[in-house]
Amino acid sequence: MISVLVALVGGFGLGCARLKLAPRYLSRCPAEGPEPTSDLGIRPIPLDLAAYYTELADYADAFEVTEVARIPDPTAGAAAAVDYPILVLRTPDRGAPKRMLIVAGVHGNEAAGLLAVPRILDLLAERRPAHADWAVTILTPANPVGVAHSSRYNAEGCDINRDFQDSQTLEARVLQELIVSERPDLIVSLHEGAQDGFMLVVTSMGSEASGRAVVEAVREGEIEISDSHFLGFALGTPGLSKEGRFYDWLKTVSRHYTLGLYASRRGIGTYTTESDWATLDLGQRVRPHVIVVETLLETPHEKQDVGAN
Ligand SMILES: [Zn+2]
Repeated sequence: MISVLVALVGGFGLGCARLKLAPRYLSRCPAEGPEPTSDLGIRPIPLDLAAYYTELADYADAFEVTEVARIPDPTAGAAAAVDYPILVLRTPDRGAPKRMLIVAGVHGNEAAGLLAVPRILDLLAERRPAHADWAVTILTPANPVGVAHSSRYNAEGCDINRDFQDSQTLEARVLQELIVSERPDLIVSLHEGAQDGFMLVVTSMGSEASGRAVVEAVREGEIEISDSHFLGFALGTPGLSKEGRFYDWLKTVSRHYTLGLYASRRGIGTYTTESDWATLDLGQRVRPHVIVVETLLETPHEKQDVGAN
């Protein structure tokens, strides 16, 4: 606990430049609409949303593909009513003993996680014996209007990942309904961040051993690992942020209602991938997300022991 407090105090010192952006990153709806976001050194990767849907449709032979919602984009103008689907893709083995839910594109400007999805589908389509224990469900893109505008926010200017308490956004409600109906054993949420290299965040209901195995596999994949959290403070284990019950409390008092907090309260561990959003090396940004999923599929899901951190 003391180390966490020291890390946080140090972090808020080191992260002064980031502090002025805190209201923007902590608020539920800080923007006017799906504004393009260029804070904290993010270098956007162009993503053609129409081509992305076409690419996913090609996987309908091997996966059950369902449209679970359509999200309207009023910013497109009244003359052209536009809406974008949120898709769910499922492996066919629904009777498998363990269930993994992968979420891509909660922040529409963090494109690497979205680009990783077809590679993850390729991995799952190989049907390796080691993966047979898992029924996998992928929801993508979680914030399609944000993707269309290369924005962190949705059409209403809301950060979906701050809306898992009042659930005022359709996007958060869609995800919650999927979590309730699928009852996953763990969630993998694909993001990008301002840290120097890859980082994994494991919440209180996750496994530290699995988290360490993931970071090691990413390192072996010749991906740069970050020594520090995206808030600026040093990580006790490079590349791994353990966010246990203390963090759950911090998030609750700061009204930081994330998907991870929502899942923790329901006994589900979340593994949030954060690739380095400042590099233009697509391998460094896209591949770690695939390695994380591969490693979690092949690592026994051990007891949930991040709680005390
Ligand atoms: Zn994000």
